Amino acid sequence: MFELKTLRDPATATLHGKHNHQPYQKLKVVITKILAAFVIGFYFIGAQADEDYVSGINTTKNRESLVTKLKNKLYPEDIPLSAQGPAIPAKGYFVEEIKDGVYWITEGGYQMMFLTTGQGVIVVDAPPTIGSNIFAAIAEVTNEPITHLIYSHSHRDHIGSARLFPSTVQIIAHEDTYAQVKRAAIESLPLPTITFSDRYILSVGNKVVELAYYGPHHELGNIYIYVPRQKVLMLVDVIMPGWVPFKNLDWAQEVTGFLQAHDRVLSYDFDTFIGGHVGRLGTRKEIETARDYISDVLANSAKAFKAIGLSVSDLYVVAREVGTKNVWRVFDAYLDVVAQDCTERTLRQWRYRLAGADVFTEDHCWVVGQYLRLD
Ligand SMILES: [Zn+2]
Repeated sequence: MFELKTLRDPATATLHGKHNHQPYQKLKVVITKILAAFVIGFYFIGAQADEDYVSGINTTKNRESLVTKLKNKLYPEDIPLSAQGPAIPAKGYFVEEIKDGVYWITEGGYQMMFLTTGQGVIVVDAPPTIGSNIFAAIAEVTNEPITHLIYSHSHRDHIGSARLFPSTVQIIAHEDTYAQVKRAAIESLPLPTITFSDRYILSVGNKVVELAYYGPHHELGNIYIYVPRQKVLMLVDVIMPGWVPFKNLDWAQEVTGFLQAHDRVLSYDFDTFIGGHVGRLGTRKEIETARDYISDVLANSAKAFKAIGLSVSDLYVVAREVGTKNVWRVFDAYLDVVAQDCTERTLRQWRYRLAGADVFTEDHCWVVGQYLRLD
């Protein structure tokens, strides 16, 4: 069985970054900060418009201190073999045919899909981390022009490189995605040219892609992208095969929808799943495993609330006994204790089964706890 290798105990990590400047040093720092703000501002506006930087805040010195803090939170560790994807070649991306003209591309952290049709290429998503390598990867396997681009949802970490596509490309998205891209017009993302509310069948050449929307989960407008003949299903930012979801149920806007999405995915007839993140594809069995993990988090959160057995009025009693009037702290402590109990129960089963379980289970327990308490 896989064992997590911890070469340095994170508890022993110390934080650096405290600076005690003398007055003359302060002046030097202020001047440096102003110069750095201009340099960083011009550099990033000109060369890396896809990244968010607030010039004037990220001075060189401040940045160094923050990077040191970040590094001090980390330590060498491995992930289970079952969570690892293919090695990324030196060219910076990996492209592979899944089946019969359906391909996926990854740079190790993000995933996208494209399909050759005989009459043009259909692309799904355009993550900025893959950027212009999207076109290099497609050119490796076909001379067909790109005719269609599908947005899985509006988050620009998945579609931000759409601006690199020719303006002749038809862009298809859910109508809520259209509204959100329009609202964020400052990001200069191209607006969808074709929208739909529930279903849309895209048929080009020898390929059919079925798009469907069942309501919000990770985000409003997140759609299921299904290639029925090749049995490939793509749903972004919900299920990461071999891994637990990203923090707080992947920032789910609608928790009920997020939880239900697991069963919805399994109602499709697919062999290959594309989740949009991490470096590997998923099988049906792995989606079942992801559903089992989420079910356990739900069950364990319920058990934790039951185990502590406190009502709101009990918490007022606890507050009086301790002598605090800071009710936010009382509730925060209560919810933390419940989330920690849920985490301990969950990790007994899952610590070595899914990558990142040790990182995000407590966050998932916390969100699910709120869901059980309030929804
Ligand atoms: Zn997203």
